Amino acid sequence: MNEVLAHFLNNIHSKNPGEPEFLQAVAEVATSITTFIQSEPRYKNTKILERMVEPERVVIFRVPWLDDKGEIQVNRGFRVQMNSAIGPYKGGLRFHPSVNLSVLKFLAFEQIFKNSLTGLPMGAGKGGSDFNPKGKSDNEVMKFCQSFMTELYRHVGEDTDIPAGDIGVGNREIGFLFGQYKRIVGSFNGVLTGKGNEWGGSQIRPEATGYGLIYFVDEILKTKNDSIKGKNVTISGSGNVAQFAAEKCIENGAKVLTMSDSHGFIYDPAGIDKEKLEYIKQLKNKTHGPIKEYAAKFQCAYFEGERPWKIKCDIALPNATQNELDAKDAALLVEQGCICVAEGANMPCTPDAVAVFLKAKIFYAPGKAANAGGVAVSGLEMSQNSQRYSWTRTEVDQKLKSIMREIHQRCLQYGKEPDGYINYERGANISGFVKVADAMLAQGVV
Ligand code: GLU
Repeated sequence: MNEVLAHFLNNIHSKNPGEPEFLQAVAEVATSITTFIQSEPRYKNTKILERMVEPERVVIFRVPWLDDKGEIQVNRGFRVQMNSAIGPYKGGLRFHPSVNLSVLKFLAFEQIFKNSLTGLPMGAGKGGSDFNPKGKSDNEVMKFCQSFMTELYRHVGEDTDIPAGDIGVGNREIGFLFGQYKRIVGSFNGVLTGKGNEWGGSQIRPEATGYGLIYFVDEILKTKNDSIKGKNVTISGSGNVAQFAAEKCIENGAKVLTMSDSHGFIYDPAGIDKEKLEYIKQLKNKTHGPIKEYAAKFQCAYFEGERPWKIKCDIALPNATQNELDAKDAALLVEQGCICVAEGANMPCTPDAVAVFLKAKIFYAPGKAANAGGVAVSGLEMSQNSQRYSWTRTEVDQKLKSIMREIHQRCLQYGKEPDGYINYERGANISGFVKVADAMLAQGVV
């Protein structure tokens, strides 16, 4: 390993003990951009990356609430305000038992590059709580969200920090959070994105991450005069991203073979069609049942405790969560002829898995580029809120398509290798970095 890189990573390790996810995300970026930084005098001696890995501010707070039995519950709330060089802090809130400082710092760090790549003026943040909405009543979720916002409100604002959803935070949670914010500050404004269409939300926001992912895959395949039509696709996850990625795959004539949840995955060789996907949406969004019920209903295979990467496919879309696809999975995917892996989730492929894809020179699209459609439409929601206006579904969808096309172009700028192979990881990291780094340099040592 290059000496400068080794020194940088050593430093980061000793400064952030016990934060494996954060260290992983930083190492991934640093490894792919150190040579570039070293070759650019304006970045080389200005400690730009050293500054970027240090959050501008982290807020950690107590979230006490009363459950339906009248018992007191205590959770921990966080907001990581990572970087505001190109715009106000922007990024989702995650409610999941696995949430801790390391996970949120990794997500906030990824958000710097992702938000920059969209071309929109959004800085980076992330937040959330170790609260688990699974199995909670609507009343309990509301109580929790109100307590969470009772502290968070003083740290966020339409021009300072604009949270949105992530795992465990959907339309219901954003509604409760928005209601409490509005009540405390007495102002109806665009402090959160992912709002309902009737109260300031944007068309296509729920669909944006999944649709954007498929638009990005289409751009990738176009470089080989190919398309997603007729391709076999394996998807992990069955939440918001997975559902709308599957929907767009089906609409574009691909065959979706798998979907999963935290218990296991279903494999439907006939393909999950529109009606079957509707069943999954009901199952996951309304009745909150396990994906296993799909296998019983449509008579297909279910693999308990496994992930879908052993199923032969042309395209694999990890859409569940971080580190869900390892080197062994990657090797099997390559061996069985997979041509493209695109991340709908944040950092779902381990560094060793990514190394396998890059070595085999198959297409690998990192989440910060491929799943940026979600935050991009959040940016469009902010624009609409500022204008006190809303665009039609078609208008937002067109804008999303062109943003994904532009992100792809930005990846090409720095990602094209001499033999023509496109290293999207390097392309996304360098391109995302340059915009933020230049803004930081222009603003002085702050
Ligand atoms: N949580 C999403 C992401 O990982 C969306 C963030 C947002 O819309 O602000 O990008």
